[in-house]
Amino acid sequence: MDYQPTIGMEIHAELKTKSKMFCSCPNGQGLEGEPNIHICPVCTAQPGALPVINKRAVEMVIAAGRALGCRINENTKFDRKNYFYPDLPKGYQISQYDQPLTEKGFLQVGDKKIGITRIHLEEDTGKSIHPKKADYSLVDLNRSGVPLMELVTEPEITSGEEAKEFCRELQRILRYLEISDADMEKGQMRCEVNVSVSKDSKLGTKVEVKNLNSFKAVEKAIDFEIARQAEALEFGEKIVQETRGWDEAKQATVSQRVKEEAHDYRYFPEPDLPPLRLVKNSGLRIDGESVELPEEKRTRFKEEFSLTFERAKTLVNDKETAGFFEEVVSEMDSWAQDKYQQEDKTKLVKLAVNYLLVEIPKILRKHKESFANLKITPENFAELMCLINSGAVNSSAAQIVLAQMQATGGDPGQIIEERGLNQIGEGAALEQAIEKIVEANPKAIEDYKKGKGNSAQFLLGQIMKETKGAANPQIALEIIKKKLS
Ligand SMILES: [Zn+2]
Repeated sequence: MDYQPTIGMEIHAELKTKSKMFCSCPNGQGLEGEPNIHICPVCTAQPGALPVINKRAVEMVIAAGRALGCRINENTKFDRKNYFYPDLPKGYQISQYDQPLTEKGFLQVGDKKIGITRIHLEEDTGKSIHPKKADYSLVDLNRSGVPLMELVTEPEITSGEEAKEFCRELQRILRYLEISDADMEKGQMRCEVNVSVSKDSKLGTKVEVKNLNSFKAVEKAIDFEIARQAEALEFGEKIVQETRGWDEAKQATVSQRVKEEAHDYRYFPEPDLPPLRLVKNSGLRIDGESVELPEEKRTRFKEEFSLTFERAKTLVNDKETAGFFEEVVSEMDSWAQDKYQQEDKTKLVKLAVNYLLVEIPKILRKHKESFANLKITPENFAELMCLINSGAVNSSAAQIVLAQMQATGGDPGQIIEERGLNQIGEGAALEQAIEKIVEANPKAIEDYKKGKGNSAQFLLGQIMKETKGAANPQIALEIIKKKLS
């Protein structure tokens, strides 16, 4: 089918300010706890209560706008968006209509620049709770008035995959800028998509899909909609302009409500707030400019450390991992100056990336911990890499050391010493261990004579056990074979 999809997105993200958008109630931790404790006359819409603009929230949206190449509007204002909903006590939401804080930017996804129409600032609503089997609903206003940024894209996205990548990259940028945790599962980032398909240049009827609470859901809902709409059109049906939701169990979008008429929000300028004019030397703290964004970091990592694009991408995915890696490299640099040559540094960096992306996640997964729980310091991690590189410890012993470092936060040199994990090379200790194992296993030697090659492997296993993993396996195997023949 040669239907071309046209996809646009509206993404909301809760800003990580200390207080709410228009009052001094706390924002953030604890909002999920007891209902209706972080509330005041402003965010519960008591008569006569007046809003005050949260300066930090303005700074954060400007930082996001700058990072996404948007124009920052000098003259901006807040507007009332009127609608009724039980968790919206004022009967309107303070938002921005025709003068958003920032507009006309883009976000790069792979080689493509996807246009951003606008990013504006508004307030979140409360939450309606529907207890099971009850004939009533409850309202929790803890979230009422939490600052939200809303980002609207141009309808330039053409697949579910592209939309998913857009959301992922946006999440990374918000996290790098430290303006939102943007966790979709926690509702800190919410996506709505508009999908239409068409065979010619005339746009098709637009369908809106909501309730997308994971990146996967964004991708699947879009792909489902493209297929559903194209099939309907093939059968001569009309696409109805409506709002649909993603049903995770059915893996399908389902109709929620048909738009009978265009929404009339009766927007008008918020009379309780003056227009906001951004002037030079306003004292606004915009720290986005000094932050290296994911795309810049990927390119730099790739070039500076001769990494593959995939490796650089994985390292940059998580801000904490990327930061840890850079600290490790600078630690290794100071080691390298004293003890190692430049060629060792390249090897060390490769080794560190490998341990950071493979071994550390393994240990963390085993204990169901996240990177935030990492007890290993960059300094100790760098030291372990140097010890592996110099052959002081082999890779199987290194894994034991790494696990111990995570358990105790200890120093690798000390752990190796205490547990006798120093690699045994060609020395007398290795010879002795081999002698002992060969004597203790006459049957394996008989088998070897009968031509069973794998008995040498068996003996090697025994030696590794005897030396607690400290033997150099290649050298040990050579000696065994020599002895046996
Ligand atoms: Zn409040």
